[in-house]
Amino acid sequence: MDAAAQRAGGAAIRVEDLVKRFGSFTANDRLNFSVASGEIFGFLGANGAGKTTAIKILCGLSAPTSGRVEVAGYDVARYPEQVKRRIGYMSQHFSLYNDLTVYENIRLFGAIYGLSLSVIRERSDQLLRRLDLKEQRNRLLGTLSLGWKQKLAFSVAILHRPHIVFLDEPTSGVDPITRRQFWEQIYQAANEGITVFVTTHYLDEAEYCQRVSIMVEGRIAALDTPKALKEQGRSESMNEVFLKLTRPN
Ligand code: ATP
Repeated sequence: MDAAAQRAGGAAIRVEDLVKRFGSFTANDRLNFSVASGEIFGFLGANGAGKTTAIKILCGLSAPTSGRVEVAGYDVARYPEQVKRRIGYMSQHFSLYNDLTVYENIRLFGAIYGLSLSVIRERSDQLLRRLDLKEQRNRLLGTLSLGWKQKLAFSVAILHRPHIVFLDEPTSGVDPITRRQFWEQIYQAANEGITVFVTTHYLDEAEYCQRVSIMVEGRIAALDTPKALKEQGRSESMNEVFLKLTRPN
């Protein structure tokens, strides 16, 4: 953790009264939460609840209508470049390039993140060994399965060893075994000190998070550990918690 994050009292993310409006529509309605350094934080909500809108603001890709957002100890509105250097981002939509090889993708994103060629080579070897993908180094990415692509995309999103990685529906459309392996990667990253901010529609994955927030129509309707949320909602599973909050009737 650097000095700015220490000044923020160890919080990786701090959101105060965040509001985002599109015309008269309020997509994020006074969000308040913080995420501790090294935490795995699940950001859940039905389609259109406002998750991606909030993530874009946290990453400095979109400006809030009002409120204050601090990421890695920096005010995102004032220091977007400092923030961008300290975060990784992966979404289901934008991943790697199918017409480049596995290694070319790693080299491209390593260069975008400002890593030297020697560091890229070293981390690439490490990454390919960890993923058991060494043999596929020179294969076109487009020939790999979606599961492999997503596992590689995650590794690439943390290639520059960011403080925080934002994962927007990273396991969408991926089979259960690959999802499990993907979560092992997430745990490994968290063990290495990376804060993980993840959205998912798979409620079993919410159980793997240390804390979970559930958004309903732009507001945070609940935020706690999965265990506490189940107790509060007298629910057997996160699925039940989610359904009770998002479909109260
Ligand atoms: P999903 O799970 O489907 O990805 P989400 O929780 O990420 O949903 P957002 O993409 O944040 O939801 O969208 C929240 C609401 O804000 C939606 O009703 C969406 O139509 C609206 N919205 C998002 N971006 C814009 C925009 N640029 N202009 C107008 N409305 C927008």
